[in-house]
Amino acid sequence: MTQERQYRTEAVVLKRSDFGEADRILTLYTPERGKVRVLAKGIRRITSRKAGHLEVFVRSRLLVHGDRDLDIVAQAESVETYRSLREDLRRAACAYFAAELLDGFTGEEEGQAAVYDLLVETLRRLSAVRDLWLATHYFEMRLLGLLGYRPELFFCVRCRAPLKPEGNVLDPAAGGLVCPRCAGDDPNLPTVSPQAFEVLRFLQTRPYEVCATLSLTNRIRREVENLLEGYDVYLMERRLKSAAFLRDLRRHWQTLDAQTPESGT
Ligand SMILES: [Zn+2]
Repeated sequence: MTQERQYRTEAVVLKRSDFGEADRILTLYTPERGKVRVLAKGIRRITSRKAGHLEVFVRSRLLVHGDRDLDIVAQAESVETYRSLREDLRRAACAYFAAELLDGFTGEEEGQAAVYDLLVETLRRLSAVRDLWLATHYFEMRLLGLLGYRPELFFCVRCRAPLKPEGNVLDPAAGGLVCPRCAGDDPNLPTVSPQAFEVLRFLQTRPYEVCATLSLTNRIRREVENLLEGYDVYLMERRLKSAAFLRDLRRHWQTLDAQTPESGT
């Protein structure tokens, strides 16, 4: 039995896809409910009053009606529109990357106000600052931390010795950096230059304004970017595998339930 319900929420549109003749399905991130998928009816009609408030990356206040299959947006009013994120290709690419990361690392119904705040703060930066690289990868590192995937950058993940800047490697499977002594057995893990070591630690622990004082050469930017990407890819694959595993498990339980006669608790 489904219950009639409606709720008000703030939300940022992460993704949208066309549905039916004039509708769209939106993937939103909200402070309390986390990631939510909703239906925006008639939004592709030129007469739609909601359309401008539900563009990708727009931050809006919404009234949502619960429905059996998919919640429906009843009202939308934009709070911040970040226009340059849709008009400037470079800014758009960074915002898409941030949205993809958030979408990939979160399931539905796990809300965190701090993640929402980070998203809003990042979209604001991406629509205005010059150093888009910094705004993007600051978001990436902070998101990992908030979602419980914080890479260990201060102590060797194998022997727990405090790390010095020289000769470390990054081991995504172990959750962070490995000291030169322990790294000997793994020639395939990427080494981390002392400069990248410093930048990664800044991104993880210092406020954005302090990170903005780092002098970042293109070489360091590429190195840090690749290290973070390797880390993301590993986590994303593990996450996708565990999502598939949970689905299989659920199916198995359902089969068992169907076979077990009611015991009446
Ligand atoms: Zn070690």
